Amino acid sequence: MEFVHESPPTRVVLRPGSSVTAVPDEAERLGLRRLLVICGARGADTARAVAAALGATSAGLHAEARMHVPVEVADRAVQVARAAGADGCVAVGGGSAIGLGKAIALRTGLPLIAVPTTYAGSEMTPVWGLTEHGAKRTGRDPSVLPRSVVYDPELTLTLPVALSVTSGINAVAHAAEALYAPDASPLLALTAEEGVRAMAGALPDVAADPADLDARGRALYGAWLCGTALGAGTMGLHHKLCHVLGGTFGLPHAETHTVVLPYALAYNASAAPAALTALGRALSTDDAPNALWELSGRLGAPRSLAELGLEESDLDVAADAATGQAYPNPREVTAEGVRAVLRAAYEGGRPRATY
Ligand code: NAD
Repeated sequence: MEFVHESPPTRVVLRPGSSVTAVPDEAERLGLRRLLVICGARGADTARAVAAALGATSAGLHAEARMHVPVEVADRAVQVARAAGADGCVAVGGGSAIGLGKAIALRTGLPLIAVPTTYAGSEMTPVWGLTEHGAKRTGRDPSVLPRSVVYDPELTLTLPVALSVTSGINAVAHAAEALYAPDASPLLALTAEEGVRAMAGALPDVAADPADLDARGRALYGAWLCGTALGAGTMGLHHKLCHVLGGTFGLPHAETHTVVLPYALAYNASAAPAALTALGRALSTDDAPNALWELSGRLGAPRSLAELGLEESDLDVAADAATGQAYPNPREVTAEGVRAVLRAAYEGGRPRATY
């Protein structure tokens, strides 16, 4: 046995009500006295409650987070943080709000507290992203990793079922690719498998009753583990395809992950038997790609890239973009293979055993 493992130095709190009860404590632990609260326009009410709980240690609310962190949005947020004399930020929301908090951290070094309200997992990674002239750049920098993460299941009660399901499968995709990442470790494998088990177990309960606080807590627990897997493992074909489909064709993030995952896993299955076995254990199946396709379809998620608005004529452009760069993947990524995976995802039928 051989491995390298590094645990992120992030403190994690998961508790109903913690966005207002625990965030002030986390700020105090970190010695922070002027926190700028960041969110998107739709998350402003929730974020206002967090700012109110911070009382005198709140340096104000900046509700301008947008999808994929446009560089001008990041520039403006940095100015606001500097003008407010902030010594840290609290990002309340999904990957977009946390992404803006990370962009501020990257430019200023200000520490970040994350209060996630989706299952995207950005809070557990040192990965930042910025979009300029229509192209998204990403990088890894330890300074953007949140110092504290506060998971409050109550904040996710308003997450619509459709987004809960696709965001949950987005999390499962992180864990699935971590299971065959070249930098996987035994602890990462356990984390990823348990993350999938928790999320796949919680999603049907969330869909049946979105106000089920226990199920919401289990989904956030899964999101934490899957996000940890994303932060530690280098992602492969599935994430590359989704990056291209989101970046070049503007397809929605969580939905795209949900549609592509079964086909990308079927493509990699023969080259990653241990990962597929672990996924199968977590999903109680001997055919993980099919089980994921069944699960998301049963819970009402979109099944095809066509439904998400991709044109058939885009498939070749997407395939070329996804084969153009080198990245680790258990099976060799061929132009023909990628084309077959994308065509299958475009059509959205039951995944074949391989492509
Ligand atoms: P998002 O943050 O854009 O949120 C999606 C929508 O859900 C928004 O309209 C938001 O207002 C709404 N929403 C969020 N929480 C809600 C709640 N509790 N109740 C009601 N509505 C709510 O999307 P996302 O899927 O969370 O994140 C996607 C973005 O994050 C992408 O840009 C992706 O690239 C990035 N991301 C980055 C990393 C990383 O490690 N850097 C990891 C995962 C995702």
